Amino acid sequence: MATMPASGGTAHGAPATILIVDDTPANLALIVEYLEARNFRMLVAQGGEEGLQRAALVQPDLILLDAIMPGLNGFEVCRRLKAREATRDIPVIFMTSLADTQDKLSAFAVGAVDYVVKPLQVEEVMARANAQLALRAMHKQLTSANRELEAFSYSVSHDLRAPLRAISSFARILRKDYRESLDEEGQRYLDTIISTSAQMGTLIEDLLLYARTSRAACAAVPVPLAPLVQQLSSVFRERIAACGARLDIVEPLATPLGDPTLLGQILNNLVDNALTYRCRQGTPLIRISAQRAGEDVLLRVTDNGIGIEPEYHEKIFQVFQRLHSSDEYPGTGLGLAIVAKAARAMGGEVGIESALGRGSTFTVRLRLADGSRSGVPAETADQNR
Ligand code: ADP
Repeated sequence: MATMPASGGTAHGAPATILIVDDTPANLALIVEYLEARNFRMLVAQGGEEGLQRAALVQPDLILLDAIMPGLNGFEVCRRLKAREATRDIPVIFMTSLADTQDKLSAFAVGAVDYVVKPLQVEEVMARANAQLALRAMHKQLTSANRELEAFSYSVSHDLRAPLRAISSFARILRKDYRESLDEEGQRYLDTIISTSAQMGTLIEDLLLYARTSRAACAAVPVPLAPLVQQLSSVFRERIAACGARLDIVEPLATPLGDPTLLGQILNNLVDNALTYRCRQGTPLIRISAQRAGEDVLLRVTDNGIGIEPEYHEKIFQVFQRLHSSDEYPGTGLGLAIVAKAARAMGGEVGIESALGRGSTFTVRLRLADGSRSGVPAETADQNR
């Protein structure tokens, strides 16, 4: 169970550090004194630049940020804090003397979690600070529990590989050298051992991939999509030829900011599914596009396959959620969970438009790489369909 920090404490009992960023700290003496007396460790930065530096260096548990300051104002400071990995998760409470709703909305838009109005009421500041610290403590506990679970599933999957490899290789040797000595029933048992251990091998590889996909191990570089898409044609060449599918690439492809390996996995899984869940009749069509949408890139993989009923649209991105049995279609139920996790790791998100019998479009929204902000046309309503 999550433990809530007592007043001024973190989940581990150490005093919580609050950084106040304000160009007129003299006005803050009262609040600093009040919170220090309640077991908070208080730090003050007299301006935006200093605030950014101290936040990165000290990693406070909470930041109280003045909205209006000369030089870097609070909104810009908050935007930069949220753009940096090291300071992204530190909650920011704005201090504003303006009753203007727009100002408060702008604060939330740049990533603030709350605001207090000047002149500050010390009890109110403490109550709001404690609420945010409790949330942060719970968030940290959840993140670390999640990390532990992932490490556990990774090592279990990893350790299952070797015994499975032994089962599968000995079963193959048995089939090669002793098949004739077995009756029909024995041969069927042996074939089942070989095919199910192959299925388990795929499941283990997918589990390892899922566990390895994390924000920590993720690059944020411009990723030209053309080479990745070309790779798809060769990876899936045989399956495409076997079912007579057509792979359509809508050029030009906008360049997202992300991780080349994760983007490769996303495309791989989506095209794999498009080939698997195709209609029995007609030519399977798969269209890949990547268009600019404001400051983002919208990567789309569209098929004319069996489609998915809207009630399952959210569910299918969760681990082990399958809409079909292994007898109907092979699979592990991890493909789309890997797609969603990889997109999240790159700061993006996934979406789906689909209806039963009408095909599906899977979308991945990622940030546009800086260099491609000009030149690639932003999508129009028409292209959006
Ligand atoms: P798997 O394909 O291994 O079962 P996924 O996580 O990739 O696992 O997909 C989850 C489920 O979503 C699939 O079992 C299938 O029912 C459905 N699905 C995925 N992609 C498509 C698609 N392109 N068209 C129709 N259904 C799909």
